[in-house]
Amino acid sequence: MASFRTIDDLGDLTGKKVLLRSDLNVPVQDGRVSDKTRLTATAPTIKDLLAKGATVLVLSHFDRPKGKRVPEMSLKPIAPALGEVLGMDVAFVDDCVGAEAEAAVAALPAGSVAVLENTRFHAGEEKNDAELAQGMARLGDIFVNDAFSAAHRAHASTEALARVLPAYAGRSMEKELTALENGLGNPERPVAAVVGGAKVSSKLDVLTNLVGKVDHLIIGGGMANTFLAARGVSVGKSLCEHDLAETALSILAKADEAGCTVHLPYDVVVAKEFKANAENRVVNVHEVGEDEMILDVGPAAVEALGDVLKVCKTVVWNGPLGAFEIAPFDRATVALAKTAAALTQGGSLTSVAGGGDTVAALNHAGVSQDFTFISTAGGAFLEWMEGKALPGVEALKN
Ligand code: ADP
Ligand code: MG
Repeated sequence: MASFRTIDDLGDLTGKKVLLRSDLNVPVQDGRVSDKTRLTATAPTIKDLLAKGATVLVLSHFDRPKGKRVPEMSLKPIAPALGEVLGMDVAFVDDCVGAEAEAAVAALPAGSVAVLENTRFHAGEEKNDAELAQGMARLGDIFVNDAFSAAHRAHASTEALARVLPAYAGRSMEKELTALENGLGNPERPVAAVVGGAKVSSKLDVLTNLVGKVDHLIIGGGMANTFLAARGVSVGKSLCEHDLAETALSILAKADEAGCTVHLPYDVVVAKEFKANAENRVVNVHEVGEDEMILDVGPAAVEALGDVLKVCKTVVWNGPLGAFEIAPFDRATVALAKTAAALTQGGSLTSVAGGGDTVAALNHAGVSQDFTFISTAGGAFLEWMEGKALPGVEALKN
């Protein structure tokens, strides 16, 4: 953590302009922001910078305009929404680079906040163009990056800019990096990873990275079927990547070598139809009918998985254990999530989770507040679980 600077390393900022890279890519419905989570997430950073006397210029991408001005993808409507969250007026500047933007920024009252127009209106953004970054740098004195969710991409406003101006991590970035460091960087052992979801193929790099790092690997969801099938279990009509049998076996062998215990379900919930309240039964994995699908981990296995978490100090979770969107196949995910939440609240477990469907599943289980940390950064979180260096984070290290 000491490897990069934070807002605490900044002194008085009176008369200074801070270029703050946030993620303002919020969902908008009928011209209104329908989920303010990302605005709320970056608000503490803005408030801390204002408290130090700075003028704050917020940079962000929005949607995918692919290097052109697309009026429907303007950040203009986001400025008042951010203003509501902050409880103050937020100005809007029609560009994030160039003479007009420079003039507009120069005219801002000291101590104000402005949202600058979509960085992706410039083709150089996604090319990590140094010249574009130089142009942005002319608007401010200091760079603060608060957008972990954009850190897996080397773009001008996330990477190149951090190399032009003195660069610092914002509060949200700091919180995310601390949580991730506690999750896999330098975790308290034993560590368990829960990996679920639909397919092995989408999480091969995650699985391969984790077997070398964790003490227990809990595999659930559709991907467990691929592992079970590779071991000779008949999985009937289950979602299963039979062509990945070799890969699955090599992951199991690698885990064995590394001293990582792999937990696959030994009882499962099966149904003949993929729909809510489909007729279902709990069976041993060796009793799945040819016309049946495995849609969830069984109750006996879930209880055993709970016991694994009880002896662990850390859990990192990505992917639901079953088809949690349709009842009653949400049971295993909900039960294990509740166990992890209770252990976290009891003080024996550090719990870190992330992933689009995972966040939805944990919300559904009603435990989001009880985990140590839940990352809302889908792509960046997965790349972190794959053990990849994130360019936006690397550029912050000095
Ligand atoms: P995340 O978005 O958190 O990374 P994924 O996208 O990998 O998670 O996986 C989530 C999806 O996996 C869900 O839509 C869920 O219904 C599906 N899934 C989980 N278990 C099964 C299963 N046994 N059979 C079919 N689909 C499953
Ligand atoms: Mg998903």
